[in-house]
Amino acid sequence: MAAASTPYEKMNVAVIGAGVVGLTCAAELLGRGAHVVVHERGPGIGAQSCSWYAGGMLAPWCEGESAEEPVVRLGQEAACWWERHAGGVVRQGTLVLAPSRDRVELGSFGRRTSHFDEIDREAITALEPDLAGRFSRGLFFREEAHLDPRKAIAALAERLVAKGGVIHFGSGVEAADLDADIVLDCRGLVARDVLPDLRGVKGEMLLLRSHEIGLSRPIRLLHPRIPLYIVPRDDGLFMVGATMIESGDRRRISARSMLELLGAAYALHPAFGEAEIIEIGTDARPAFPDNLPRLIRRGRVIHVNGLYRHGFLLSPAMARMAADAALNPQARPEMLHDLAA
Ligand SMILES: Cc1cc2nc3c(=O)[nH]c(=O)nc-3n(C[C@H](O)[C@H](O)[C@H](O)COP(=O)(O)OP(=O)(O)OC[C@H]3O[C@@H](n4cnc5c(N)ncnc54)[C@H](O)[C@@H]3O)c2cc1C
Repeated sequence: MAAASTPYEKMNVAVIGAGVVGLTCAAELLGRGAHVVVHERGPGIGAQSCSWYAGGMLAPWCEGESAEEPVVRLGQEAACWWERHAGGVVRQGTLVLAPSRDRVELGSFGRRTSHFDEIDREAITALEPDLAGRFSRGLFFREEAHLDPRKAIAALAERLVAKGGVIHFGSGVEAADLDADIVLDCRGLVARDVLPDLRGVKGEMLLLRSHEIGLSRPIRLLHPRIPLYIVPRDDGLFMVGATMIESGDRRRISARSMLELLGAAYALHPAFGEAEIIEIGTDARPAFPDNLPRLIRRGRVIHVNGLYRHGFLLSPAMARMAADAALNPQARPEMLHDLAA
């Protein structure tokens, strides 16, 4: 009934790109009654997208340590949105720890963030029994959540198709060739061809498997130079990430990054020394100069891009605003930049 009563009812929307941004936008528009067709150049979900390598942390308050206010505020929409549209959200909070020599980092992280409890050795052990005795102080962000990004985008795509959306895989398309009322260009870093401000920020990650250690929530390990994190997944898997390097290179991990990622895992718990390395991943996050996402409207084309290190955290809010802008040419959602067509 809701769909029939919305003005989207007869609108044809084409979405280019089935990364996290394209799929969240498609789900949001479909939910409002539009006819949605997604075009993905890769052979399936994830194969060629930056979204495949994400940690899946839905951590708006932790991100406030280095991000602007809109990231913290808009990111608070994410966990509920993902619960509704894909499931698999784990609401166990985030634990921020530092080795004793870097404890000063914990104080400065706390001064730049909010919504946490300072916790001691006993409380850390109660939350993560396998870390017993290893850390004497930490910050616990109990309202934060995480998900497995690969499962989340696969579930989103599956539900999209089940509800009548269409996804075409296997060929790249251009906005000009698409016969649709509105085209959402969600090509991530590839859209540098028309968005000259967009740059890549390289991120490297590892997937490790260990059955020697169990964690219930993402752990951020602070370090003066490279803060890293470990996110638990099913079946003994742990995502260790992620470097932040000013480069659009999407090819290989460097030896230094490999050492740092493995060093962080080992510093968290020596059991990671025996873990299997299941995967080494590298991609480049699409980012604008202020590291905030943008909707850029040029006639019937709306670019949704620049999600930087917040693809899963901010795409629900960006999809909501993209749908508002697609529906109403007069709408001025907060992240919108209007350009001449
Ligand atoms: C190591 C790492 C860790 C990260 N961790 C997190 C995290 O914990 N939480 C978080 O929120 N974010 C995280 N991010 C950031 C997040 O992954 C990105 O912000 C997000 O993936 C960007 O999504 P996107 O949809 O814009 O781009 P992409 O995921 O790259 O999707 C773009 C899609 O467009 C397709 N495409 C391109 N050109 C065409 C064409 N012409 N026709 C058809 N299809 C086309 C591509 O094949 C691709 O599938 C991380 C990133 C990295 C690299």
